[in-house]
Amino acid sequence: MCGIVGYTGTKDAFPILIKGLQRLEYRGYDSAGVALANDGLQLYKCKGKVVDLQNHIGNGTTHGNSGIGHTRWATHGEPNDVNAHPHFSMGGNIILIHNGIIENYDSVKKELVARGYIFKSDTDTEVLVNLIEEIQKSENCKLSEAVRKALNEVHGAYAIVVMSEDEPGVIVAARKSSPLVIGIGEDGDFFLASDATPIVEYTKNVVYLEDGEIAEIVPGQELKLFTEKKQKVTPYIQELELHLEELEKGGYDHFMLKEIYEQPRSVHDSMRGRLSVKRGLVHLGGMGDYEKKMLAADRIIFIACGTSWHAGLVGEYLIEDLARIPVEVEYASEFRYRNPIITERDVVIAISQSGETADTLAALELATRKGATILGICNVVGSSIARITDGGSYTHAGPEIGVASTKAFTSQVTVLSLLALMLGQAKGTIERSRFHRTLVDLSVIPEKIEAALQTDAIVKKIAAEFKDARNFLYLGRGYCFPLALEGALKLKEISYIHAEGYPAAEMKHGPIALIDEEMPVVVIATKGPSYEKVVSNIQEVKARKGVVIAVVSEGDEQVKEIADYTIEIPETEEMFAPLVASVPLQLLSYHIAVMRECNVDQPRNLAKSVTVE
Ligand code: GLU
Repeated sequence: MCGIVGYTGTKDAFPILIKGLQRLEYRGYDSAGVALANDGLQLYKCKGKVVDLQNHIGNGTTHGNSGIGHTRWATHGEPNDVNAHPHFSMGGNIILIHNGIIENYDSVKKELVARGYIFKSDTDTEVLVNLIEEIQKSENCKLSEAVRKALNEVHGAYAIVVMSEDEPGVIVAARKSSPLVIGIGEDGDFFLASDATPIVEYTKNVVYLEDGEIAEIVPGQELKLFTEKKQKVTPYIQELELHLEELEKGGYDHFMLKEIYEQPRSVHDSMRGRLSVKRGLVHLGGMGDYEKKMLAADRIIFIACGTSWHAGLVGEYLIEDLARIPVEVEYASEFRYRNPIITERDVVIAISQSGETADTLAALELATRKGATILGICNVVGSSIARITDGGSYTHAGPEIGVASTKAFTSQVTVLSLLALMLGQAKGTIERSRFHRTLVDLSVIPEKIEAALQTDAIVKKIAAEFKDARNFLYLGRGYCFPLALEGALKLKEISYIHAEGYPAAEMKHGPIALIDEEMPVVVIATKGPSYEKVVSNIQEVKARKGVVIAVVSEGDEQVKEIADYTIEIPETEEMFAPLVASVPLQLLSYHIAVMRECNVDQPRNLAKSVTVE
């Protein structure tokens, strides 16, 4: 969470910083700010989005060849002008931006207050900038050394970028558990950002800062890296594989809509080179080396948060069904604090779009300490999870910018389907004919998603009917139960309508009490082994005057007769229904949110890439 940018070199820093903040705004958007070095340090910051910052600056001077910028997702202190970053030290000569949490801020603050420091904001961040100033004053050292010493005194998670009036043009940056990328430009200039999206249009050469590393950046000089213990590190320069077009809306009103429509391609990309119907083969490169380990494992444990956790549930059903290996799915935030039983015979697989989810990273560290093999399924190449795991697979969905995850979910489920098939084939738990049939069905899912996108018009009409509903219930069984959870989450997060996902048969153990003529109930009732049972559940809803919106397989007759609205999608193997049926659910929440005039790509209180616990 929170977006960080920085630039130092010979160009005008301000436009680079603003454009970078716009790219990173999905990470946090409750306040924004920039500081420019130009004969002193010039600071602009305010509550609101990047556009509010631009209005706030108006015609103010924005000269300077180096600067830093921040878009905040508040953890300590409400979103307001004062708490917005960057933060000056009390003496006014050091300025800092921060992503993460300084956990011992309170004790450090007390010490600083005792030494006469006065704090303007409620943030944990201001404590760190004052600590740096205090160290620099008492030790009379360079900025980079003061930062290093200060970081030895704090704990928590951070990516920070710091400038000092006394060292014009110099930027010092550091990270622990929050991402930071440094772009190396051609003219001896440097770019910094929380992810590579603000950098890609200037340079493809980047260095991903590792945990515990500090960078001293001086324009025109080589990039200097060292550890918090002062050991020199040789920068490892990598080439970015990102393309600029992937970061634009491409004619769509919102990134979310673009990403929904990208799914035929993104799901195809997730499978590319990994599945061959002709040769009857499934192979996931980065997972292949751990195949034996997984086959012999006591358990596979998926750890994830939010939408990725829902994908993990689908993965559980797939792997237990096809490969007969016991699977558990854990919320990363619970797993890491509940003293779970993990042994060297477990394989722990983290699922995360960004590969930076703080809770998931911490859960992986716990699993590593307990000796488990750790693997990752993430979308962002070079992300922390990708780097700390023993192996894993990228989902290759392309950048996902809308805060509500859509194509990342279907790509995760695609990779999990491939994993289950690969393991089932290796273990011999899938009959050959079933394996072949399943492979064929998976290979044509992109076309079926394309067809499911044709439901847009009918979904939009349904959205218009229910845009003012106060509650929604989503029901599904089997593979479609996790999808019911995901459908409800999508609606909650972007339209702010309360929604619950439930296993259809569980409804009678509680939620059925909620049903009356005011309650829209979305039922995923596609063809599969539990179809008849779901039909009975629909009858139960109708008997209590609930309004049923059913997602059904093409040509369905039975549900059509009883449901109030039906949305037809192509029929698939039951296990792939979540891949196709997620499309109308995504579109439903999208249209409802647009009709309610909600900010679809930047829903309130949320941020993508949750890098704080
Ligand atoms: N903890 C800091 C704050 O609340 C930084 C939050 C962020 O990552 O945006 O200001």
